Amino acid sequence: MNILVINSGSSSIKFQLIQMPSEALLCSGLIERIGEKDAILSYITNTVKLQKTDYISKHKQGLNKIVDLLLDAENGVIKNIKEIEAVGHRVVHGGNSFSNTALVTPEVKRKIQEFAVLAPLHNPSNLEGILVAEEDFPFAKQIAVFDTAFHQTIPEKARKYAIPNNFYEEQGIQVYGFHGTSHKYVSEKAIAYLQLEKSKIISIHLGNGCSMTAVVNGKSVDHSMGFAPSNGLIMGSRSGDIDHSVIFYLVDSLGYSLEEVNNLLTKESGMQGLTGSNDLRDIEKEAEKGNSECILALEMNAYRIKKFIGTYVAVMNGLDAIIFTAGIGENSSMIRKLVCTDMDFFGIDLDESKNEEKSQELREINSSISKVKVLVVPTNEELEIAKQAFGLLT
Ligand code: ADP
Repeated sequence: MNILVINSGSSSIKFQLIQMPSEALLCSGLIERIGEKDAILSYITNTVKLQKTDYISKHKQGLNKIVDLLLDAENGVIKNIKEIEAVGHRVVHGGNSFSNTALVTPEVKRKIQEFAVLAPLHNPSNLEGILVAEEDFPFAKQIAVFDTAFHQTIPEKARKYAIPNNFYEEQGIQVYGFHGTSHKYVSEKAIAYLQLEKSKIISIHLGNGCSMTAVVNGKSVDHSMGFAPSNGLIMGSRSGDIDHSVIFYLVDSLGYSLEEVNNLLTKESGMQGLTGSNDLRDIEKEAEKGNSECILALEMNAYRIKKFIGTYVAVMNGLDAIIFTAGIGENSSMIRKLVCTDMDFFGIDLDESKNEEKSQELREINSSISKVKVLVVPTNEELEIAKQAFGLLT
């Protein structure tokens, strides 16, 4: 079964065509900067690697370009649109309605729309991807895979905020949790690698968005993001945890509008606010040259991760492994080292030379005396979406 996986963001569409159950990747690609004159389209198959700049005004036009590429006589990987039997969509917020992957129905679309108020940066473009794919792939089943689904197992004591009960019961104000597809994928890989029947794992996803999950026996029991994908760790441009009285001070004493506060905390804060860049590669280079703002920002970033490790060790009453994943987690030996230094009380001891090795494979970077395994597990949200879509349809 050929499954097209689509991750439709606000100005981008990532896609992969995956053959299941063999998990063979037939092609992958990305359209960035949708809506701008110089949108970039990249496309990779086993034999070609293309990149071109084009004006792509809308998602519809972007998805049409992807269809053209898939069918292209020279560079395509299918001959007929009917060869795509399912389209798996990443959907960020499924509220409390979805603890599993779902076949897209009018009701499912209505729910995704309803939860757009909780994920205004993500759900509208996820839904747009579904609507356009329904038109472009009329023969395929459309499947929605929710980032929030993995976190439905978080117990109430960790899920509720300490505000009056009716906000939880009637308004659904609670911890939802995000990056669930990635946390599920990497924690399952780790459990299989470690061959553990019972396991206590901390999964650390560090990309542009960053989050951590405490995973007991394969189930999420606590998570660093909450109602929306904004709190917890320091991220590319999001502040993560901040005392909410700062918001009132900004509004009441400094004259900020709520929209400006939202912009400040989600687009101008985090590493961007601390250093002027949200790309960790640039920040590391500057830190190596002695830039004190960048050095401090990296220390703050790792310090926040350490605090969550401490919290989750307490919550789980133990720890078998920590996992680093996503762009930063997989590539930044500097952040991994900062996080794992002076953690011997928890039984975490890094092998510094293993930490520096580069690889695209799951790898163990702890020393031989470390009680806790430290793993780098490359995430693959697209493959996880394909697996879940295939599981639903077979
Ligand atoms: P997204 O959340 O958009 O999927 P990614 O998982 O691709 O994000 O991660 C993006 C982050 O990964 C950026 O901050 C980028 O700087 C960082 N990153 C990518 N490669 C490296 C590298 N080699 N060293 C350090 N950081 C890296």
